[in-house]
Amino acid sequence: MEHATISERIAAARKPLLSYEFFPPKDDAGMQALDQVIAQLVPTQPDFVTVTYGAGGSTQQRTLDVCDHLQAQGLKPVVHHLTCVGSSRDELKALLDRIHGMGIRNIMALRGDPPQGEAKFRKHPGGLAYAVDLVRFIKKHYPDMCCGVAGYPETHQEALSPESDILYLKDKVDAGGAYITTQLFYDNAVFFRFRDTCRAWGIRAPIVPGLLPPISLRQLQRMATMCKASLPPRLVKQLTQAGDDTDAAEQIGLDWTVQQIRELLNAGVPGIHLYILNRSKAALAPALKQCFAR
Ligand SMILES: Cc1cc2nc3c(=O)[nH]c(=O)nc-3n(C[C@H](O)[C@H](O)[C@H](O)COP(=O)(O)OP(=O)(O)OC[C@H]3O[C@@H](n4cnc5c(N)ncnc54)[C@H](O)[C@@H]3O)c2cc1C
Repeated sequence: MEHATISERIAAARKPLLSYEFFPPKDDAGMQALDQVIAQLVPTQPDFVTVTYGAGGSTQQRTLDVCDHLQAQGLKPVVHHLTCVGSSRDELKALLDRIHGMGIRNIMALRGDPPQGEAKFRKHPGGLAYAVDLVRFIKKHYPDMCCGVAGYPETHQEALSPESDILYLKDKVDAGGAYITTQLFYDNAVFFRFRDTCRAWGIRAPIVPGLLPPISLRQLQRMATMCKASLPPRLVKQLTQAGDDTDAAEQIGLDWTVQQIRELLNAGVPGIHLYILNRSKAALAPALKQCFAR
């Protein structure tokens, strides 16, 4: 039986799930390149795929297009990411109508980051202030839609405190967030602490770790700053030693992620979400595929 929602998939799964995250390319050439990546990934049979949504709805049509391409090539269910940035309630409702009309029953419900050039998130005058409001809005209009929500093992950048961040995460789950996908992290210890804290605060929803296989020291440092992830000194040392050898750096990154996945799966996580950044290489690597051998 096909399970249309991610919560159903997680509940029915006998093995940990594997999911990939895509972002909408800027232009038609990017879309064509992405179609090739999608075709390469079809045989890896991920349990679901997700598509990000750009600041202020800047990628609205392209996010829908990528969802459409993924579904057409058989990569589903698709999770459409949605943010509160720059949209009124009416605009969000109109977009949800289109998403629902495409047969999509999964939304990653987010507040979103401030648009480029703006330091602080500002709610649209007729819109929503936090992800929890978006979860409520979606569940009110489309109770059959499954909402995922974001969690931050190393605390969200704007949070008043780690405790308040967990409390607001609990609000999102209590409002209908069916599962949590985490921000990327490179040190499993931070994930295990986060999971323990969530459980201690009564958050029972499945928590899916999000991982990005690093491909270079530069990318690692950029992502770590952007996403507020701590950097394990051993990984930094290995990537530093790789210098300009891009193949060696990619292999180091892949080995690191595979090691993370093995440990996380052994610790009973319900799945692994891979931030593949529209690249197929890591997902096609035999060592990674072996972790999910069915
Ligand atoms: C898995 C994942 C996928 C993502 N996908 C996208 C994407 O597709 N597009 C995109 O633009 N961004 C995406 N992001 C980034 C995300 O939009 C940003 O991290 C954003 O700054 C916060 O979004 P949120 O949904 O976690 O917000 P919220 O849960 O609303 O939290 C935002 C901040 O407000 C605080 N807070 C929450 N509720 C309250 C309250 N009631 N009162 C006071 N403070 C409160 C929280 O502690 C936190 O600091 C993603 C992040 C993750 C982890």
